[in-house]
This record gives sequence, C-alpha cells and structure tokens, in this order.
Amino acid sequence: MKIAVLPGDGIGTEIVAQAAKVLETLRSDGLKIELEYAHLGGAGYDAEGDPFPPTTEKLVLAADAVLLGAVGGYQYDTLPRPMRPEQGLLRIRKRLGLFANLRPALVYPELVNASSLKPELVSGLDIMILRELTGDIYFGQPRGIRTLENGERQGFDTMHYSESEIRRVAHVGFQIAMKRNKKMCSVDKANVLDTSMFWREIVTEVAKEYPEVETSHMYVDNAAMQLVRAPKQFDVILTGNIFGDILSDEASMLTGSIGMLPSASLDANNKGLYEPCHGSAPDIAGKDIANPLATILSVAMMMQYTFGLADEAQRIEAAVRKVLQQGLRTGDIYEAGMQKVGCAAMGDAVVKSL
Ligand code: NAD
Repeated sequence: MKIAVLPGDGIGTEIVAQAAKVLETLRSDGLKIELEYAHLGGAGYDAEGDPFPPTTEKLVLAADAVLLGAVGGYQYDTLPRPMRPEQGLLRIRKRLGLFANLRPALVYPELVNASSLKPELVSGLDIMILRELTGDIYFGQPRGIRTLENGERQGFDTMHYSESEIRRVAHVGFQIAMKRNKKMCSVDKANVLDTSMFWREIVTEVAKEYPEVETSHMYVDNAAMQLVRAPKQFDVILTGNIFGDILSDEASMLTGSIGMLPSASLDANNKGLYEPCHGSAPDIAGKDIANPLATILSVAMMMQYTFGLADEAQRIEAAVRKVLQQGLRTGDIYEAGMQKVGCAAMGDAVVKSL
C-alpha cells in the first residue's frame, strides 16, 4: 500500500502528522504500508518553485493513494495565478483523473449540539454526497469575458456533460448506494437546463442496472431546501460539479463541525486522494489546536475505498467515536464540561483507542 503523503500548508503539517500516526499504527499491526512525503501548494512553491512540482507528480502517479492536508496561505495571495497553492490542488485532481468526489455528512451523537439545526433534525444523520469533479460548467469551453456587437461586455461560461462522464459517476453512486441503504437521489435542474435533462435521462438508464436501489430525482433548489428541512430523508445524493460544490458545503454544515469532515476523490480504478473538507486554517496554524479528526477519518475512507479494507475503516471510525465518548474535544468542537485537548494529544488519543 504505497501512500503519498502531502501535508501542504498551514495546519496541514499538524493534522497530517496525526493521520500518519494512525497509518503507522496500522503498519505495526501488520498492514504493508509505505509512506512517502512530498510538497503541494504553497509548500511546493517555497521548496521547488511550483505548487505541483514534478517530484510530487511522479510520486502521486506511482502511489496507490494520496493523503493530503490542505493548501493555501495569506503569503501566497499575491502570486500570479499559476503559482497559487490552489492551482496545485486543481492540477493534481486533473492529473490523477479524480472524477468522483465523496463527502459524507455524518452527525456523531456526541456532537449533535454543534449543528445549527435542531438536534431532532440531525440526530443520526448519515448522508453521502457524490459530486462529479472534472466536468460541468467549471471546465466547459468556451468561457471568458467578451464585448458584444452593441459594445456591452459580457461574462460567459459553458455547461456540458458527456454521456460517458455521467455514466461513470452514476455507476460509482449506485455502487455506493448498494453498500449503504440502497437509496439514491440524483439532483439536477432538469426543468431549466438541457444539460440537466440529459443528466437525468442517463442516470435513469443507469438506474435500471441497479433495480435494488430506490432512485429519485430532485431539482437542486428543492434539494437545497430539503437538506435543511428534513436532511435524514437522504442516503446518497448524486450530482454534478457545480451543484455538488454548493450542496456538499451546505450538508457539511449540518454537522456543525468542519474539523470532523473527511473526503475522498476517486479515479476509475478507485485510486484516490483523501483530504479533510476544510482548508489550511492559517489563523490557527502552528498553535497545535487544529482538529485532526477529519484527516484521520480521511484515512478511514482510504482504507474502505482504495484498499477495500472495510474492517480497518470501521476500526478507525470506532477509535474516533471512542475519544469523543471519552469527552476529548479540540477547540472547534468544545463544549462546557468536556476536556479540551490539542491537535497532537487528540491524535495520540485516537492511536491509543485504536
Ligand atoms: P478554512 O477551512 O481553512 O478555515 C475556516 C475556519 O475554520 C477558520 O476559522 C479555521 O480556523 C477553522 N478550521 C478549519 N479547519 C479546522 C480544523 N481542522 N480545526 C479547527 N478549526 C478549523 O477556510 P478559509 O479560512 O476560507 O481558507 C484558508 C485557506 O485555505 C485559503 O488559502 C483557502 O484557499 C484554503 N483552502 C484550501 C482547501 C483545500 O486545501 N482543500 C479548502 C478550502 C480552503
């Protein structure tokens, strides 16, 4: 199991160090894990003059999976666009062909009060948002700002999805639904957009190959509303790049704690890049107060989705639950009566409960 480890910037180094401890524990328990480190983002620019340096590219291409912290920092804000940290992220996703982005939104019973919604609405919530990551209006050409014949300027982008792009992500979605509660909701805007009408047609076709899965379709505006009205009606949500971008951020906030949310981005062979949903949090970097649990839970997703080791994934998740049950909390999820711990101490506690 060759794992490329890219701590990145800001709190990235601190949180990835805790996830690495978890991987090293699995290795000492017998898994054949190899970790190799490289730079991405601002760290890549600082060390090698490129946010996605060739050495990193070589390493991630040879690896089975990639563990990433986060990228970004104020000191890079004035760099020309190709040198900015987030370009490193976009390029690595593209280079590895990571078209399926999985973001679970799961509410731990111990953290139910962290949500901005009423506890009864989110208690027991466990949904998976699957966002297509390499197509849609974010990548469509042509795009730009042009001057019309009447002299007025106009910004424009192009939305499109090809049949193969929709099919492959739909298959990933149905396969995930088969392993969960066999419920799939495809989200689109088929009442207005031709791209979405086509999306719905293809998803409906693919659904016939998974007769056990209860499939439904929902317009994105309604989905945005339902997510805050009655989120527990969902199991797997399948959607395109732009709608998924927005809905997955909305769903993540149902849990109330950005420091708890892992993610996976997969290619056609389940090779994946695993990272927390949050950014590099420069405001708290270097203070040993960041929550490492999203990154540790990203390792659990790696075990499940790239290596097919569901037992190891459950073991890591159980270890995280146990430290929460013990009352350990980093600052972002702290409530009165709990024991406040730092990033490294939280990592140590998870390792101990593993
Ligand atoms: P952010 O997610 O870094 O931080 C938002 C807020 O949440 C901050 O107050 C931060 O302290 C807090 N926070 C985030 N993660 C936390 C953790 N693990 N534990 C405790 N608190 C945590 O978002 P931002 O402030 O908008 O962006 C900061 C930088 O991160 C920017 O340069 C941005 O471009 C970058 N970014 C990177 C990624 C990524 O690498 N995937 C994602 C989003 C933002």
